Parts: sequence; structure tokens; C-alpha cells
Amino acid sequence: MSAQEVQITLRSEQGATRPATATLTRYERGERMGRAAGFAALGLLGAGIFVFVPAVHLITTWLLPLAGLIAARSAWRTEAKLTDARGECPACGAKITLSGGQLTEAPLWDACTACSRPLLMVATESA
Ligand SMILES: [Zn+2]
Repeated sequence: MSAQEVQITLRSEQGATRPATATLTRYERGERMGRAAGFAALGLLGAGIFVFVPAVHLITTWLLPLAGLIAARSAWRTEAKLTDARGECPACGAKITLSGGQLTEAPLWDACTACSRPLLMVATESA
């Protein structure tokens, strides 16, 4: 896992932009595989434990492995995450820090902590 400070762009729904600084954390291939395997194993382990619980096992035997697989898929697809974005809100101008999240193919949206408007976090350099 390697983390670095990167320049990003915050964009409001109206199209206004402001530069910001965020922490980019990248996961190596082996790391992603390990996390994915861990989630899948947790799902199966959880289902195994609840097999002996009456009634509950009717749901947990398929729900927990499924949840584990979904989490595993998400962990595998997460090559990087963009967190702790510090800058000014392009909509209201307040100084904000956004928690951010996982970088996937989908755009990363977060809400301004001051005005609650949705902001798009765009990684300007894709190193
Ligand atoms: Zn705002």
C-alpha cells in the first residue's frame, strides 16, 4: 500500500471547479487479492457458525457468503482510494475536508460538509 498527496479537482453540479489536495492510496495486486480472499473467507466462516442456529441459518447460509463475495468483488476492483480531500467547495466557497472513498470506474461523489451539495472528486493526475 502506498499513499501520496495528489492534486484533485472538486466540481459542483453546476460545473464550477476548485483545486484541492487529497490522499491517494494505491493497493498492489497481491494486497487486493489478499483482501478479497479475506472477505470471501469471512462470509463462509460466518455462514458456518450460524448453521447451528435454528431459523437464523435459513438466511445466513446464503446471505453471508453472498455478502462476502460482494465485499470480495469490491475489494478486488478497488485499485485505489481517494480520501481526506482538502479544499474549498466550488458551490459555497467554504473550506472543507471530504472523506472521499474508493476509486472505481464510477465517478467519486461526496457531499460538501457545509452546504451538502454533491461534489465530484476528479483526480487530475493519474499516476
Ligand atoms: Zn459547499
